[in-house]
Amino acid sequence: MKATPIPLGTRQRLFERDAFCCLYCKSGQSGLEIHHRQGRLARRGQDPHRMSGLVLLCPSCHLRATTHPEWAYRLGLSVRRIGLDETDEVPFTDCYGQLWALTDEGDRFRLPVTLT
Ligand SMILES: [Zn+2]
Repeated sequence: MKATPIPLGTRQRLFERDAFCCLYCKSGQSGLEIHHRQGRLARRGQDPHRMSGLVLLCPSCHLRATTHPEWAYRLGLSVRRIGLDETDEVPFTDCYGQLWALTDEGDRFRLPVTLT
């Protein structure tokens, strides 16, 4: 299956939603990358670029998420292919232990829970 490019409008909304910062470490460095929270197989049959399935990460956090998938799954930065979890139902935790939820409408909001 061939990857389809992320539409320009979606990219813009994503950068604005995530305030041009890495969602994990909050770095605002240049070269931010878009991470798909689910693999291509899991996205089959649905919008491959749904807003809840995309997060902005800095290159080092993105590299860590792809080379240490267990770390990314544990934090919710990635969502497992198996099971019925939807990316808009799985919150993620940033490096400060704050819990965030993403919607397909393009919203990002902090949940009133701090994981320890
Ligand atoms: Zn980062």
